[in-house]
Amino acid sequence: MRPVYHVAVSGALALAQWGLTGDRRAALWTFLSGTLIDLDHLPDYILNARREEIRLTFVLHSWELWAVVAVAAWARGGSRLALASVGSPVLHLLLDIWGNRVPARFFSFAWRARRGFSLRAIRTRPVRRSLPQSVWEIPRYIVANVFGPLRRPLESQALGKSPEYNTSHVP
Ligand SMILES: [Zn+2]
Repeated sequence: MRPVYHVAVSGALALAQWGLTGDRRAALWTFLSGTLIDLDHLPDYILNARREEIRLTFVLHSWELWAVVAVAAWARGGSRLALASVGSPVLHLLLDIWGNRVPARFFSFAWRARRGFSLRAIRTRPVRRSLPQSVWEIPRYIVANVFGPLRRPLESQALGKSPEYNTSHVP
């Protein structure tokens, strides 16, 4: 799902939380954890530009990570703290599943790791978005994904270069 939607959803959630609980710090965490989670794509973009094969590690998009955070928060402050700690990132993952039409296992770190994080191995269907092919395309790619028209990737650029790029996917 495009980051601009995550900003809108997390922002609305954070404002509602702030209004209901008056807890500004928790609301700020809700906003930041629901939006900045997408920064974990940057290392992949940079590394994939120099790889033969596209790999998707995106560590923050992992059920396992948020399960550990939830358990740690629960042990420290009970179910309310656990919910406040992982509610927004979990909602982000659910929106990515819905928006990108990928199965929930796509966001299992262990599942991806077993497949070597290889896009070819974890891809479950043909997808429509291309990945940047060089470091210099990354800013444009980000701008296109945040402000560009819906589902209009750098596909025209990727056409003809490699079939993998034409059907690659970014959650
Ligand atoms: Zn995401």
